[in-house]
Amino acid sequence: MPLIAASRRVSRRKLLRIGGVALAAGLAAPWIRNTAFGMSSLGNTMRLPIWRGTNPFSLGVAAGEPSGDGFVLWTRLAPDPLSADPAAPGGIAAATGDIEIAYEIAEDPDLRVIRRGGTVLAEAAYGYSVHLELGGLDPNRPYWYRFNSGGMESRIGKAVTAPAGGQSLDRLRLGVVSCSNYERGYFSAYRHLTDEQPDLVLFLGDYIYEKVMHGGNAAHALRHHSDGVAAATLPHYRNRYAQYRLDPDLQRLHAELPALITWDDHEVQNDYAGIWSETFDHPADFLLRRAAAYRAFYEHMPLRPSRALPQGPDMRLYGRFDFGDLAQISMLDGRQYRSREACYGPPDRGGGHQVNAGDCPELDAADRSMLGGAQEQWLYDGMATSRARWNILAQDVLMAPFRQRQPAPEHDFAVSTDRWDGYPANRARLLRRIHETQLSNPVVLGGDIHSFWTTDLHLDPADETSPVVASEFVGTSVTSPGPDYDSMMRDMNSNPHVRFFDSRQRGYLSLDLTPAALTARLQVISDVRDPQATLATLKTFVIENGRTGAVTA
Ligand code: FE
Ligand code: CA
Repeated sequence: MPLIAASRRVSRRKLLRIGGVALAAGLAAPWIRNTAFGMSSLGNTMRLPIWRGTNPFSLGVAAGEPSGDGFVLWTRLAPDPLSADPAAPGGIAAATGDIEIAYEIAEDPDLRVIRRGGTVLAEAAYGYSVHLELGGLDPNRPYWYRFNSGGMESRIGKAVTAPAGGQSLDRLRLGVVSCSNYERGYFSAYRHLTDEQPDLVLFLGDYIYEKVMHGGNAAHALRHHSDGVAAATLPHYRNRYAQYRLDPDLQRLHAELPALITWDDHEVQNDYAGIWSETFDHPADFLLRRAAAYRAFYEHMPLRPSRALPQGPDMRLYGRFDFGDLAQISMLDGRQYRSREACYGPPDRGGGHQVNAGDCPELDAADRSMLGGAQEQWLYDGMATSRARWNILAQDVLMAPFRQRQPAPEHDFAVSTDRWDGYPANRARLLRRIHETQLSNPVVLGGDIHSFWTTDLHLDPADETSPVVASEFVGTSVTSPGPDYDSMMRDMNSNPHVRFFDSRQRGYLSLDLTPAALTARLQVISDVRDPQATLATLKTFVIENGRTGAVTA
């Protein structure tokens, strides 16, 4: 068992600055023999850092990406989670080097029946985060886990394994969340979702907001991003995630519920598309920022490093997750591989905007893609081989068309280039492929638009008489304010494929899947400004097996 050798490379000054790592006078090395943690597999010679009363697991724990025999566990050492020192992420000097910590996996919530234990590195290069992939466990059951460093213990988290491949599964309950701007309110939606104890939570983007509210806007902020500046560098992105994870509702959600996670734009910058930003003149400059943002995202999420370890500005986020014969969930990445938004002004910039379709022939170009060629092909391959009863496509933005009538000229309609309306050729390919493969019960999930949508996705989205090939639910936001209800409703007559819309309340979606039906509850909180907000169900929809289109329950 290797010792934690990094100690001797840490100066006394740095250790004092860390605050959590003790430096006892006269002690040759700031480590002690760990006696509080007695797992025999660790041996009795292992030495761990002393944290001097400061628990380094301030950001909690998380689990995700279940397979038939395992999952990935996450934590991050951060004794000073909002450290302003860029050379000391989370309060640990970057020069300290990797820190070995212990973990234990149990079959019971009190960790009496330990199934597995060992050590794993909190990597200095990744902000002292841990991404522990585990296999060899039993299918379709919960496990509980805890980390330990220098006698300090993390809270206990819960993880689950999926059913073994193709095994029959009679129920799967999913929470679906997006758009949790910390400045815009309290995370009561996360609290109530955790109380529901679904099997899994799908995060569909805008997990953080990189920006800050300032000027006249600041008056609307209910609480503030701690650093007061828009995140653009690795230390600032790190601290943004850390601040969100210090929220007790979000931290408890991750401890109790396993997650599947994709992103939207605000994890990096508003409305970016691939390598194009609305503020950078040169994509190469923007990619430096994207690299920092993706890295911080990785450092804070329960993502499998075998797939998602970032490489500079690139990170493989999309993935497929099977839950027996009941459900296949494809988590898509709608941002990283996008073509530039159509008909945007400055040549090397991107940005979402409204265009009149007739004024923008580029919109329909066949080579424009939301998902990028490789991800599209991967998705179609998965659809072709899926045996699941329910096929969930979880991604970031509204897929259905939404045509907004323009004041002048009177009969023109505008669409948003930042949503699937901006990538009609890709949308048409995807819907045609769903139709051709006769994919069983396809359901699209989305976020971004801070409102509830229940829509029919037609084979030809421009033709309301063409067959409906998939159903769509878009969750409202956890906190972010929705678009103006009355003005949106004025356009609904022009969009008959929209079965339901409401932008006035914050909350989440609860999905209950059985072989017979998918039931979707649109869950809303009483007041985003109230940390103790209560919960209600706004509406319930059902999709019966084999029948496209959600109906009111
Ligand atoms: Fe958002
Ligand atoms: Ca967004």
